[in-house]
Amino acid sequence: FDMFVLAFIERLFRPTYRKDDFVLGKKLGEGAFGVVYRVSSAKKPYNKEGDLVLKKATQYGAVEIWMNERVRRACASSCADFVYGFMEGSSKKGEYWLIWRFEGEATLYDLMLSKDFPYNVETMILGEVQNLPKGIERENKIIQTIMGQILFALDGLHSTGIVHRDIKPQNIIFSEGSRTFKIIDLGAAADLRVGINYIPKEFLLDPRYTAPEQYIMSTQTPSAPSAPVATALSPVLWQLNLPDRFDIYSTGLIFLQMAFPSLRTDSALIQFNRQLKRCDYDLVAWRQTVEPRAGPDLRKGFELLDLDGGIGWELLTSMIRYKARQRTSAKSALAHPYFGREGLLALSFMQ
Ligand code: ADP
Ligand code: MG
Repeated sequence: FDMFVLAFIERLFRPTYRKDDFVLGKKLGEGAFGVVYRVSSAKKPYNKEGDLVLKKATQYGAVEIWMNERVRRACASSCADFVYGFMEGSSKKGEYWLIWRFEGEATLYDLMLSKDFPYNVETMILGEVQNLPKGIERENKIIQTIMGQILFALDGLHSTGIVHRDIKPQNIIFSEGSRTFKIIDLGAAADLRVGINYIPKEFLLDPRYTAPEQYIMSTQTPSAPSAPVATALSPVLWQLNLPDRFDIYSTGLIFLQMAFPSLRTDSALIQFNRQLKRCDYDLVAWRQTVEPRAGPDLRKGFELLDLDGGIGWELLTSMIRYKARQRTSAKSALAHPYFGREGLLALSFMQ
């Protein structure tokens, strides 16, 4: 069977929706390119109240539908469960409606805001609280599990040829059904294997989490080639430019924020970015400047990353690097000793 035939058949048996099928609930988010609501529908199997999420997107919604359809077929467990996407209204002033299953109440951002982080996540992932005393080792175990899940999801996207470009705690949702973290918001994603790499001019990436290169392809790469050319060329371009490493930098910043409680606020992250830039993006140099006068919160972060001979610190420094090609990939990061044998084993049961 051809992949497209399969996709077509699968689509036939999935419920289709129209505007009138939805009752809008609480607003969950509002960005420059769309509004997100929790919604209800009378249609099976999503007929429980508030079981779905709707994004009403502007003209860029078409790309986001494409990305979600592709993820659904190639790496479904990486992202929130996509149900359906369609255009509403006339093509000129129409909007795109995107529907997902409601995965859960909390993003990693919400969870990280809690004073109890990472223990609040431990209960959600494991379902019960461990008997171990609270402390740095137990926190490290939880953070390690979260990092493993994010990298696992990211590896799925990257292996499919998709770069997310907006990886941040606000775009990582905790799926209550699978008890794992999943990636959401493919609104800024690029699919390099088929040349869909649409960056509207006015599109601004989130400056708090962007890698220093800002553009994922070198400026010498011509603008996204048309589909047939791109299919032939893009694996080569991928090798040359390593665009996936853009997401790795952002993921490194999330790791950093999980390890250092004092870097979890937006203002602290912005300040960190400034300090790192002053150190020419050398994390070791940054450590040397801040550690001598570090308060208890910063010290706690270093202590956590220094456990087991400093493998956490080693992983972090392999993700946050100025040059994209010196950063680790999601796949190699998962094989990093930080995750140990136990970690790898746990991940292999996830899919
Ligand atoms: P944008 O950032 O463009 O506004 P997102 O796709 O990131 O749109 O969604 C906005 C917010 O809506 C998210 O931060 C999250 O809180 C919530 N959300 C999005 N998708 C889901 C989902 N599948 N399940 C539960 N909540 C979701
Ligand atoms: Mg978002």
